[in-house]
Amino acid sequence: MTMDHLRRNFLQKLVASAVVVPMLSPYRALAGADPAGTGSNRGAALRVALMGLGSYAARVAEAMRSCKRARVAGLISGTPSKLQAWGTKFGVPEKSRYNYENFDRIKDDPDIDAVYIITPNALHRDQAIRVARAGKHVICEKPMALNAKEGQDMVDACADAGVKLLVGYRMHFEPNTLEVIRMREAGDFGKILFFQGLCGFRIGDPGQWRLDKALAGGGALMDIGIYAVNGARYMVGEEPTWVTAQQTRTDPVKFKEGVDETIQFQLGFPSGAVASCLSTYQMNHLDRFFMTGEQGFAELQPATGYGPIRGRTHKGELARPHTTHQTVQMDEMAGILLDGKTPVVPVDGEEGLKDLKIIDAIYAACDTGGRQDLRLG
Ligand code: NAD
Repeated sequence: MTMDHLRRNFLQKLVASAVVVPMLSPYRALAGADPAGTGSNRGAALRVALMGLGSYAARVAEAMRSCKRARVAGLISGTPSKLQAWGTKFGVPEKSRYNYENFDRIKDDPDIDAVYIITPNALHRDQAIRVARAGKHVICEKPMALNAKEGQDMVDACADAGVKLLVGYRMHFEPNTLEVIRMREAGDFGKILFFQGLCGFRIGDPGQWRLDKALAGGGALMDIGIYAVNGARYMVGEEPTWVTAQQTRTDPVKFKEGVDETIQFQLGFPSGAVASCLSTYQMNHLDRFFMTGEQGFAELQPATGYGPIRGRTHKGELARPHTTHQTVQMDEMAGILLDGKTPVVPVDGEEGLKDLKIIDAIYAACDTGGRQDLRLG
């Protein structure tokens, strides 16, 4: 059983799209893009090439069948038989099927607007830079890169090439999550005091890339703990200024040096709010956010799984209807890339970079035992 199956099964057991504001886009010269934000592309479909035809890409491709604004228009894989099978299944012509050696030629493919990188974490940086240099928008899975230095390289490369960089933060478009954010902004919880994020599952096959430092860049924190890092920021609505963290390892055979099994971390925010989070590959049934303020609370459980996301606040159940996350995400990303829209919670490279800076600080705090100060701007 793959990790994806385990996670899906676990989430199944546990248990509208975002408001967008038009803005002028600084980005230019892309096939299908609308640099001036005039809306001339409104209604056009975002033509996406998927890179890395693994388990999550399969989920994205299926979800994109229901998109109104996005479609699978290209494929990049090292396996010819997958290119053939996926090409037939999703109607991608042979001319828009590439491998890892020749995908720079996507530059001359007028039928592709963006490349969605869904490969192991360690490959994201170099692949994103090559896509940017080919003049296509980059959509990259989380974690955007292995560390903040790599993330900055990606942000710079995309800025240099005049393309946009987005991160696959599907929760940023999830209706119940957005309702909690709306309530916080309306003052319903009063001053926010505390956030708790519990993110984890028991990982299977010890031979998978997620347990290989060279490909994953770490362990649970890179893969699942990042949801607590990112969630703390969008739930509290501030950028943390300090981090403390503690690591525990109960299975040193499965979790080698540099591959974290369990990390508890704490974040401090400028308002005085604090967050306490758990990231683990060793415990099941952990997908819960809780936030409390002076006048109320919000609870999401499951908080980050494929849904439906469920939750309640001091005012009652959260009841926004579920739509497949990846369908909503890709339609909203079409709005961002083609119409210059701004999502309620950012999904751009700077957003991914903030999480990577916090992750770097969490690992440093584990190593030193001391508090790490952050300046995220
Ligand atoms: P996976 O192992 O199922 O798929 C990875 C794909 O990359 C495979 O098709 C593999 O052949 C290909 N690949 C290309 N070069 C490779 C190399 N050198 N070594 C190994 N594989 C190589 O993994 P996945 O679960 O699809 O995860 C891929 C990315 O998507 C990761 O960054 C992961 O964090 C992210 N992801 C995000 C979500 C989400 O909900 N946003 C969910 C799952 C995975």
